[in-house]
Amino acid sequence: MAIYEKAPAKINLTLDILNKRTDGYHEVEMIMTTIDLYDRVELSTLKEDCIKVTLWSRFVPNDERNLAYKAAQAFKEKYAISSGVHIKIDKSIPVSAGLGGGSTDAAAVLRGLNKLWDVQASIEELAHLGATISSDVPFCVYGGTALAKGRGEIIEKLPSPPSCWVVLAKPDIGVSSKSIFQQVHVDKMQHPRTDVMITSLHHNDFFMMCESIGNSLEAVTINQHPEVLQIKNRMKQAGATGVLMSGSGPTVYGLVQQERKAQKIYNAMRGFCKDVFLVRILG
Ligand code: ATP
Repeated sequence: MAIYEKAPAKINLTLDILNKRTDGYHEVEMIMTTIDLYDRVELSTLKEDCIKVTLWSRFVPNDERNLAYKAAQAFKEKYAISSGVHIKIDKSIPVSAGLGGGSTDAAAVLRGLNKLWDVQASIEELAHLGATISSDVPFCVYGGTALAKGRGEIIEKLPSPPSCWVVLAKPDIGVSSKSIFQQVHVDKMQHPRTDVMITSLHHNDFFMMCESIGNSLEAVTINQHPEVLQIKNRMKQAGATGVLMSGSGPTVYGLVQQERKAQKIYNAMRGFCKDVFLVRILG
């Protein structure tokens, strides 16, 4: 028997860094929402007690460094499962892009193994286990739209954003989240209005949402990779209503209400960078 799980990417509607904690992590406040760009994860039981990962990507390891592998290992340990699992990942989400690709694969493995081995763990329990793998995994276990606090592991569900199109454009560079966080100076950062974003979601107000998107890490990444600013400017010129970098970058997204306009922006961005996607917000 095989289980198939969709592993959707996320975008950050907001990302705020509040302070640096004594454990070295940053205290964050992020509103994230899932989008219709996803990896496909297939899980099947192996008789021998091992974890095998198959995927075709030059940039992602298929051994114990893979977050999907780590998720299976954590799940097997927690629920004392002695069977093995073969994880096949069909990757569509660009890697090191700020779209949470590794974390969503890990979350899909937790949800999928829960079904494959009929463990019947609650979603909260899976999210808790996910926090031991990486900070964005708990959000990805739930999906939808949520405010993530703490290191990212405290999740408060929010209403879905107003329905709209998302144009994603990723310059041909990978950004290491670690190196961006190392350059953060909390007192010098701009902070997004998380409270206004929450109000816009409750009011289902597209324009208020576009006005309140914000990312404290954007200036840090732009300082290292000026291409991100060029893509932002291009996306604005093309007519997107709200434009922001997601996560630690470098992917820039544009929010648009009308499909025809979104298609036009998508075409304009394709002349400018290689990885461009036109998707809907799922949140
Ligand atoms: P985030 O937005 O959560 O910071 P990201 O989208 O910037 O994440 P990922 O695509 O998750 O970044 O990749 C970051 C690193 O994780 C890469 O070095 C990659 O090799 C590693 N990695 C481990 N497992 C996976 C996986 N299943 N898919 C993608 N990357 C993975």
